[in-house]
Amino acid sequence: MHQNEDLEEKKLLGSGGYAFAYLTEEEELKFSLGVPHLFLGNIGRLDKRRFSRYYCNKCGKEYLGSPLITYENPNEDITEDIILLEKGEYKCITCNYTLAQYLKFKNSIE
Ligand SMILES: [Zn+2]
Repeated sequence: MHQNEDLEEKKLLGSGGYAFAYLTEEEELKFSLGVPHLFLGNIGRLDKRRFSRYYCNKCGKEYLGSPLITYENPNEDITEDIILLEKGEYKCITCNYTLAQYLKFKNSIE
């Protein structure tokens, strides 16, 4: 990432809340997948420092900073060609509620 690139604060939706993070225009286009909303689940793991605040549906309140990000790398074969590289979750730091989940696959043919 270029330091001089313009970062814009964007709302990222999850099933259990939402978060605000700074994205470049390029990332925004890449992650939006042609829909008008951005989803945490499509973005995958984003550096903690990129987040400004998040909202937890269970707590019903907004917190400053990044949600908790937990992940594992199962490297599990889904089919002959598709490998599940990473499985992660965004969680509320206060109550551990899941804000969003994401999966990252690798196509071994690519
Ligand atoms: Zn919470």
